[in-house]
Parts: sequence; structure tokens; C-alpha cells
Amino acid sequence: MLKTDTRQANWRRVNPGKYDAHLAVQRAVKASELDKQSCEVCGVEAVDARHDQYEEPLRVRWLC
Ligand SMILES: [Zn+2]
Repeated sequence: MLKTDTRQANWRRVNPGKYDAHLAVQRAVKASELDKQSCEVCGVEAVDARHDQYEEPLRVRWLC
């Protein structure tokens, strides 16, 4: 088995809410339900969606 697969599986097991929230954001952006924005601190466009709380997966802050 590949090391990366194991690591990702472990991460998913430890962070189930985080993984679900991450997928929800990806789905919403793809479906144009959520607009990807530039970094709220410096304006860079290569950003990640950061969750303050995973109970609300589509409430994110865009940060590089
Ligand atoms: Zn930034």
C-alpha cells in the first residue's frame, strides 16, 4: 500500500468533519453555489477555504 494513501486515510479518520467540509466547499464552488474569492488578507488569488467551524461547511474564509 502506498504511504500517501495511508496518511490520507488516517487524516480522514482523525478529521471526519474537516474532510466533509472540504468536499462540501469543492462541490459548492464547482456548482457555482459558492464563489471562490481572493485572499482576504493580501488579495492573492491562490487561496484555500478555511473553516472556522466545520458544522457550517459553506461558511469559509478565503486565505492564501
Ligand atoms: Zn494572503
